[in-house]
Order: sequence, then C-alpha cells, then structure tokens
Amino acid sequence: MRTRRAALSAVAGAASLALTLSACGQNSDGGSETDSGSSKGGTIGIAMPTKSSERWIADGNNVKKDLESKGYKTKLVYGEDDPENQVSQIENLITQNVKALIVAAIDNKSLNGVLQQAKDANIPVIAYDRLILGTENVDYYASFDNEKVGRLQGTYIIDKLGLKEGKGPFNIELFAGSNDDNNTKYFFNGAMSVLQPYIDSKKLVVKSGQTKLTQVTTLRWDGATAQRRMDDILTGKYTSGKVDAVLSPYDGISIGILSALKSDGYGSAGKPWPVVTGQDAELASVKSIIAGQQTQTVYKDTRELAKVAGNMVDAVLNDKKPETNDTKTYDNGAKVVPAYLLQPVSIDKSNYQDLIKNGTYSEGDLK
Ligand code: BGC
Repeated sequence: MRTRRAALSAVAGAASLALTLSACGQNSDGGSETDSGSSKGGTIGIAMPTKSSERWIADGNNVKKDLESKGYKTKLVYGEDDPENQVSQIENLITQNVKALIVAAIDNKSLNGVLQQAKDANIPVIAYDRLILGTENVDYYASFDNEKVGRLQGTYIIDKLGLKEGKGPFNIELFAGSNDDNNTKYFFNGAMSVLQPYIDSKKLVVKSGQTKLTQVTTLRWDGATAQRRMDDILTGKYTSGKVDAVLSPYDGISIGILSALKSDGYGSAGKPWPVVTGQDAELASVKSIIAGQQTQTVYKDTRELAKVAGNMVDAVLNDKKPETNDTKTYDNGAKVVPAYLLQPVSIDKSNYQDLIKNGTYSEGDLK
C-alpha cells in the first residue's frame, strides 16, 4: 500500500513537472512567458522588464504566487529591456483576454497606445514599481517611497564621510538610473536634496563637473555603461587625488563602478574603496558589502510589493476600492495616479543580517 502510494505520487509529481515545463516557454517576441495557476478568478497578465536583474525575477515570481493564492491564473512575460518587445507582449496579453494587467514599464512613455487598447477592452492596469507616464489609462500605482530611496543613499554618504562633523572636503561622483524610468529622477532628486548643500559649500567636490541629471543617467540601468563612464572619469579627472564617494542608484550599476575603481587600483593598501551606495540588495552586492567593497544598498521588500499589486487587482476586479496611501505625489502628466508606497530600508555591513532574519536570504546564500 505504502509503495503504491509512493509510486502514484511520484507519477503525479512527474506529471505536474511536465505541466509546469510545458507551460513555460519562449513567446513569439523572444521574451519568456510563463502560464500557470487556477482559473477561478480569470487570468492576470504580468509584464516585467528584464530577467537580467534578480529583483525582477523575484518580483515576477512573487506577483504570480500572490495572485495564484487568490485564485487567479497568471501569464508572466519579460520584455528583456526592449520597449517594443514589451508593447507587443502586452498586446498579446490583451488578445488573450486577461482580466487585468500588472506592468513594470521598460520605457515609461512607450505604452500609451497599448494601454488605450487595454482601456477599450475594459482591462484595468496597475503600474508596478515604475509609473507609466502620459496616459489616463493607469488605474493604480504600487511602489516604494522612491524619493526616500535617494535620501537614504545621500544621507548614508554624508554620515559615512563625517560631513556633519565638519570633515572634508571630499571628492564624489554621481550616477543615476535610466532616463526612461520615472523612478530615476525621484532617486536622484532625493539624494541631491541632502547632498547639494555640501556641494554648494564645497565640502563635496564633483571633479568631473557632471552634476545634472541629464549628464549622469545610465541607459537601461546597465552596469557596463556605468563602468565605462567611471573609467573615463578616473582617467580624465583623477590623475591626482582620489574618489571618496560614489552615488550609485542600483546594485548592478555599483558593480560596474567597482570594476572601474578596481582597475584603477582602488581596494588596495593606500587606496581604499570609496563609499559606494546601491539599491535592491541583490545577492552579489550583499556579498560585496560583506567583503568590504560596496558600502551600502537600499533594500525593498518585493514580496510586500507583490502583495500590494495583487490586492489592488483583486479589489478592482471585485468592484472594491484598493487601499492607497498616497494620492498626491505621482502625477503622470495625464492624472495623479493613486498609489500605495512601501518603505525602503538602508542596508550595510552593520545590519545585513536583517536580510537573513526576514527570510530574503539564508546564511548559506551569503557565504
Ligand atoms: C527600480 C529599482 C531598480 C531599477 C533597475 C527601478 O525602477 O525601482 O529597484 O534598481 O529599476 O532595475
């Protein structure tokens, strides 16, 4: 009896594995697509930007899990940082009669046409983490306090350098995210709101002279692009003197910056690593923090964000008003989009254990 049951469950396991595998394939646009869940509440389309960063992989999985626990089926697609690809993926989801869309935009302005199609098909749209601009057809926005992310990075630099205690002057270089991501200006402005007074008083010196957002963005948040820019700055502006701090908005960019610094001899005796910030607490960067290379990151619990987005969908589809906690900040040019904003947390060597305590990583992951 026991053997038979074991054999049966092995077969069931193999069958469900086969099902999962067959439901997970490439779509015609070259992006990847996963299709799963029970169909009680209908199917929800989830469009994520890229699999090249761990956070978005976790976001996709967490949103799927949350919706499936609420009785929905899901279709998850990744646009691989190609805006046109994302548009055609969303068009496909609309054709497949999804009941609602959760979209983390690649290019915040490229979705107006396709979101009109969603509107015409009566499909509500939740902007996920990144606000979609210039269209009325975004119902709600689920994100973090993005301005605070930047303030946490800027304040960390100020504290670590001892600027409040009158130390300095120090050299700093500034990096920002992709210019087509609405979050970029919130992160940068948040950081500059605390850093600017020290730049004005010359306690912080930007030797490259590149202090405007338009001069410091990094298309598609690409680490290699940031590395090239840092290389150029080091070669051109630091023939004498050293970099004491780098404002970096995202862990993948920090990794590029650290590579450029390493090639220039930083991280060795006599040339210590500068303070380098980051965002997302990605595994490689948390390890880098433990190893004393990257200094800080900003953790955003994407498990919570997924729940917020899932709750919004569930409420809208059941004719209830989703919970929001910000109805003023996020004007997308066509309307102020009601938002629920979660709180980001600064992480460095002194508190990275919190990521183990809250189940984001295991001890083993960080070894
Ligand atoms: C997200 C950040 C992320 C960045 C790059 C932003 O829109 O808010 O968490 O670091 O995109 O993926």
